[in-house]
Amino acid sequence: MVSKVVGLTGGIGSGKTSVANLFAERGVAVVDTDVIAHALTGPHGVAMPAIMSAFGNAMLNADGSMNRAGMRELVFADAAAKSRLESILHPLIHVESVRLLAEAEAPYALLVVPLLFEHPEYRPLLGRTLVVDCLESVQLERVRKRNGLPDEQIKAIIASQMPRLRRLALADDVIENNAGLEALALQVEQKHQYYLANLANGQ
Ligand code: ATP
Repeated sequence: MVSKVVGLTGGIGSGKTSVANLFAERGVAVVDTDVIAHALTGPHGVAMPAIMSAFGNAMLNADGSMNRAGMRELVFADAAAKSRLESILHPLIHVESVRLLAEAEAPYALLVVPLLFEHPEYRPLLGRTLVVDCLESVQLERVRKRNGLPDEQIKAIIASQMPRLRRLALADDVIENNAGLEALALQVEQKHQYYLANLANGQ
């Protein structure tokens, strides 16, 4: 059981997964709520019966998984549907996060939550919060390259998330990800040493 948990967050394409992978390479247990959400809505996932009863068979693929494209379209157009989906998924994601953190065997764990500060129910699980931050221009470029989305769409997603300065103000710790992967690894190493030394002291 790992009692020391660092909550990792950041805007779209800021580098959360890249940072989490670098911590994992150092032996840190990583629990990613996006991965959990994906499993819950995968073939015959735990959330699927509730999703089917709330949304019907239109949101069901032949393999028993959620029709992601259909659901994305629906929740984009219908705020009530979005909150219905969230009310099914969020409690399940939280329960599964707690379960996986309890199972983890490592000096400490990293819990990746894209909307961490919008979900205060995660705060009691966390010793520290870590924000991965980059300039909006860098975010745009990376997401454009990775997803091939038009700039307007990426900007709309960024605008729908917590403003960068507010996220930074709420963070205990920050990793700046405007440069290359070597610079990122150096910062992860520095934070890792800090967490190894300080999380054990009750911080
Ligand atoms: P999302 O919120 O969309 O899940 P994320 O915050 O997890 O994204 P990553 O997937 O880690 O972000 O990074 C976004 C993209 O930018 C990826 O294609 C990744 O390989 C690339 N990337 C991240 N950091 C760097 C870096 N320092 N140098 C070059 N490429 C990077």
